[in-house]
Amino acid sequence: MNAVDSDLLAGSVARRHSRRVMVGGVAIGGGAPVVVQSMTNTDSADARATARQVAELARAGSEIVRITVNTREAAAAVPAIREQLLKMNLRVPLVGDFHFNGHKLLEEMPECAAALDKLRINPGNVGKGRKRDEHFARLIEIACAHNKPVRIGANWGSLDQELAARVMDENAKRPVPLGAAAVMQEAMIASALESASRAEELGLPPDAIVLSCKVSGVQDLIAIYRQLARRCDYPLHLGLTEAGMGSKGIVASTAALSVLLQQGIGDTIRVSLTPEPGGDRSREVIVAQEILQTMGLRAFTPMVAACPGCGRTSSSAFQELAQGIQNHVRQKMPEWRRERYGVESMTLAVMGCVVNGPGESKHANIGISLPGTGETPVAPVYIDGEHRLTLRGDDIAGEFKALVDTYVAEHYPKLRQ
Ligand code: SF4
Repeated sequence: MNAVDSDLLAGSVARRHSRRVMVGGVAIGGGAPVVVQSMTNTDSADARATARQVAELARAGSEIVRITVNTREAAAAVPAIREQLLKMNLRVPLVGDFHFNGHKLLEEMPECAAALDKLRINPGNVGKGRKRDEHFARLIEIACAHNKPVRIGANWGSLDQELAARVMDENAKRPVPLGAAAVMQEAMIASALESASRAEELGLPPDAIVLSCKVSGVQDLIAIYRQLARRCDYPLHLGLTEAGMGSKGIVASTAALSVLLQQGIGDTIRVSLTPEPGGDRSREVIVAQEILQTMGLRAFTPMVAACPGCGRTSSSAFQELAQGIQNHVRQKMPEWRRERYGVESMTLAVMGCVVNGPGESKHANIGISLPGTGETPVAPVYIDGEHRLTLRGDDIAGEFKALVDTYVAEHYPKLRQ
């Protein structure tokens, strides 16, 4: 039996050892729970709109939020973004995402660096040749001067071409050269590791460095991070870049991240979903939380088990109840989290008929089995495995929500305020 099989049977994941990096009071790595991150898509020069979206992402559960810092106006707006968040009583760590001109912006506006909790530097986008080394060194010096950690984030779409050419040349000299995919993977890993070594030489402490190597292919991502985890002890930020829109983006990210997380690899994650037009940016936060919670790595909000429904469900009432309960617990969770201990681990079940309804409901803290086609129009409710009461009539949904609220009040102790 291999290590993964035994982890699955044990129902736990042995986390890889990594250093711990503190980002504005949030621990990444060193055995800390896997951290959920996200990124805004507003123009950062618009401090008000950006602060509003950071707040939305933080309230949805993003524990660190990254913002683009691409122009003088954006860099100048960073302190105002921080100030507006403080006025909202939000202390979520902010990460500045720098490419091409980051060294200049940070040199000209030290108050931007001061207002951030971490800098993200893409080693493929800091310049070419001698300039690349100079700009990278300047960015690291600024991080050291402000005592800020850095994520060295290589990206397949902007891989350092000189480094890629060097890795290809080295590969050509091997007795048995590697294939194209393996060479690309090695170039990504080399870009991250060599940049981290250079950052350390320049004075950045090793416990101020987080690494990432994002690609858009699931198998490539898995292969790269397995290597990274073997070859360094920096905390690793996981994410499938350009994951895509809708179910494709969710499935691809979940597939890639789950395999790695199950092997104990990954200290912080982001799910890079393309929002649908007019869609909610916070979706990527909820998906990231659901990946961690369904894997049993963290608990954020009560999970609702629901059957898919079939020919035995006679109306939309079942889908509406399942959706309504999920929305109800999400809406109530901020209040429950503030006031009570442990509600996030509560489990609920909403089932469509008597076939699997009672069995599944008994496994939840509180579950309901609705009447299927031809069944008596009653809905038995199970609490901690026992059939406690039966709902009937026109307001089964409302009564069930009230039972959930009562369960929370009776089972989860109040936090001391
Ligand atoms: S529990 Fe009933 S309604 Fe739900 S999928 Fe199974 S048979 Fe169909």
